[in-house]
Amino acid sequence: MKLLLFGLYLSASMQAFGWGFWAHRYINQQAISTLPAPLIRFYKLNRHGVISKAVLPDQRRYAVPEEGCRHYIDMEAYQHVVPLYFHEAKAMFSEDTLLVHGMLPWNIQFFYSQLIKAFENKDAKNIIKISAEIGHYIADAHVPLHTTRNYNGQLTGQLGIHALWETRLPELFYTRYFLYTGPAKRIDTIASFARSIVLSSHALCPRVLECDLMVKRKLPENRWYEYQAKGTSMMRMYSYEYARHYHVLLNGMVEQQMKLSILAVGSIWYSAWLEAGKPALPETQAENIEEENHPNTHSTHEHSCH
Ligand SMILES: [Zn+2]
Repeated sequence: MKLLLFGLYLSASMQAFGWGFWAHRYINQQAISTLPAPLIRFYKLNRHGVISKAVLPDQRRYAVPEEGCRHYIDMEAYQHVVPLYFHEAKAMFSEDTLLVHGMLPWNIQFFYSQLIKAFENKDAKNIIKISAEIGHYIADAHVPLHTTRNYNGQLTGQLGIHALWETRLPELFYTRYFLYTGPAKRIDTIASFARSIVLSSHALCPRVLECDLMVKRKLPENRWYEYQAKGTSMMRMYSYEYARHYHVLLNGMVEQQMKLSILAVGSIWYSAWLEAGKPALPETQAENIEEENHPNTHSTHEHSCH
């Protein structure tokens, strides 16, 4: 039997994969319900695509090296200053720095402009695909550990905290969450919106780390982990007891960030549609969307993020 160390020893290239696959799909699914008529009709019709394609950006990371930098931003590397626009960031920091330390807020802007174009063209397939993918990046931006160099607690002896916070906790406890957000809102400036998300998420990092240290101090080490069978493998993960303690100390943080993600995703879709002039959308389902047609899968650095 193979022994897998679930989320405990992520390499740098695997870092920051975002909420678990389940949570990414769930956030997109819930975001549909925030939309007003007639937009909600189109998204409900294409519900399957919006939900299933929520995980494409993470799946693409295995094949497209430049994909990784779109999912996170190491705020420390930017001295906690986030230029509003990509060209400003490129002027202040080298492009190599951006590729290493992340482009998440500017990537959201890029996808947003692509989504507006897709709406303007009434291109149902791309509307669904880009909506699903921007939903992914927006959700990633709400994960505090996507905004720090210490993304997996590797700098503070807290290895494994990334998967614990963003995958294990929501999967264990989401049934207790109240995720009603109210209707999607119009976003005035996407650049400010994307920046404010990563700043707010980053502000939560000290608590994310401190609460974990509190559990480590409280619980004997022999109760930190448990093994679960997965196919023919055994996976080591933080124990239910550990997760429960951590979740209580976080005092609703994961629920709050999921909720904010849902509202932000719905608001992004809604605002792109407004920006495009509220086009009437096809009444038929957009099927068989082809991945390779997507405008954001170029392999050069210049085109990979902008
Ligand atoms: Zn991601």
